[in-house]
Amino acid sequence: MKRFLLFASCFLFALCSFAQKNMTKIIRPKVVVGIVVDQMRWDYLYRFYDLYKADGGFRRLLGDGFSCDNTMVPYLPTVTACGHTCIYTGSVPAIHGITGNNWWDNNLNREMYCTEDKKVTTVGSSSIEPGQMSPANVQVTTITDELRLATNFKNKVIGISMKDRGAIIPAGHSANAAYWYDGKTGNFITSTYYMQELPDWMKQFNGRKLVDSFYKQNWNLALAKDKYVQYCDDDANPYESKPFGANALTMPYQLDQFANSDYSKITVTPFANDLLASLAKSAIVAEHMGKTPETDFLTVSFSSTDYVGHAFGPNSWELMDTYVRLDETLGNLFAFLDKTLGKDQYTVFLTADHAGAHVPEFLAKHAIPGGRWDDNAIKKELTAMLQKEFGIDSLINYVGEYNVYLNRASLLRNRIDMDKVKNTIRNYLLKNDKVLQVVDLANANAATVPLPVREMVINGYNPAHSGDLQIIMKTGIMDSGPTGMSHGVWNAYDAHIPLVWMGWGIKPGHTTREVYMTDIAATVAALLHIQMPSGCVGKVITEIAP
Ligand code: ZN
Ligand code: ZN
Repeated sequence: MKRFLLFASCFLFALCSFAQKNMTKIIRPKVVVGIVVDQMRWDYLYRFYDLYKADGGFRRLLGDGFSCDNTMVPYLPTVTACGHTCIYTGSVPAIHGITGNNWWDNNLNREMYCTEDKKVTTVGSSSIEPGQMSPANVQVTTITDELRLATNFKNKVIGISMKDRGAIIPAGHSANAAYWYDGKTGNFITSTYYMQELPDWMKQFNGRKLVDSFYKQNWNLALAKDKYVQYCDDDANPYESKPFGANALTMPYQLDQFANSDYSKITVTPFANDLLASLAKSAIVAEHMGKTPETDFLTVSFSSTDYVGHAFGPNSWELMDTYVRLDETLGNLFAFLDKTLGKDQYTVFLTADHAGAHVPEFLAKHAIPGGRWDDNAIKKELTAMLQKEFGIDSLINYVGEYNVYLNRASLLRNRIDMDKVKNTIRNYLLKNDKVLQVVDLANANAATVPLPVREMVINGYNPAHSGDLQIIMKTGIMDSGPTGMSHGVWNAYDAHIPLVWMGWGIKPGHTTREVYMTDIAATVAALLHIQMPSGCVGKVITEIAP
């Protein structure tokens, strides 16, 4: 019997691999669950490993799954919208058009938000703006679109996140639904792009007012205090932001004061991850995901890791506490999926949309280089400098994600040579001791910068949505407010992300071979035997399958 079981499981495994010889029928998992942990640095898998639980999510992923330990973001800028788009399209901003969370549209001559869509409106809340969103700006298909196409739209694709862009972009153009959080009402909402009314199960979910129950728990330490002392910087620091009030300097935080009053605060706590995991479970059950012959796809993007990271930094008590709790939340989610769908009946991948830098003042305490930068201040500075040089105060449209967008209409009107302006800006910025290089984006291929950086610049350059000059900062310099941290640059601290696969079709193991965020969609396509997305430039990670 034992031998038969061994034979049978080998046979099943053979069916699961990429090769799939002599199949009588295409076999796919019941559900693919794509998990993005916003701003998760790769090293968090191992830095906190000893704190993760045996039945928690991270140890299970590393033990039962396949970890690609050198997964890199291959473009600039390393921010949320670009990350979610790249993961699910296997493409880069140069092709898919999502060049930032926000960008200046050179053709429309105005600023654009990644998922902005004024043609649609909110469903599920009286707040208008939070629901004027859709994937319309994504110019290629997602892997979730390709699965919809492959199943003749008979399957279900649902995207959920606290952030609009974290829900909308992964779910693709042809999604059944995407739901994101409205901080004004504490409800999950959607837009008329997807539906005219929330489904009953979602109305019921919102009606439970889980946010208030989470607030009433307050944010206490999940572990003994000495663990935080061992692993982290001091709890209170002048360089941390204070999202819970000017006097709330250290853990624990009194959150009960926000119940029934301020629904936005939950995003800067680990409880937003629990809220989202609850929603994931409700969606699986209510939408009967995995219960039909076609493969369904649930995309889950945990956002509070990013909000906590920005406010407190990678070495804070708050961040460590958030990951320790997320480990447990993920462990529970996987146990739920085992029970509902069957162990190894679903495929999970967990990755991040980008990583994140250390807080500059924390680095300074240890004599490590770093510093702060302000794109808005630089815009003012450059505008004033150009007015002195050329006598015109309107030569710059926008500075964002270290891109300088020139006002092409003004250049033309005033008959000013674009190259001359570019050179003037470049020479000016190179005198700034925080700037390493300034690349003329239209001629990036000729830029004398190391090849890996140049490749990331070119992959991020989309003439309609990018600037004219790309500022490359010295290491550790970030565009951020006066406190906390940020991300967006080429360096490993922003570009090195986790990528772990588990479940149906995946063998346990790991590789240190360098792979890319663009490879994720190509690999999912190969696992499912479906076409890769229309702008995909990634390659299949062949090591993950038996
Ligand atoms: Zn992000
Ligand atoms: Zn962020």
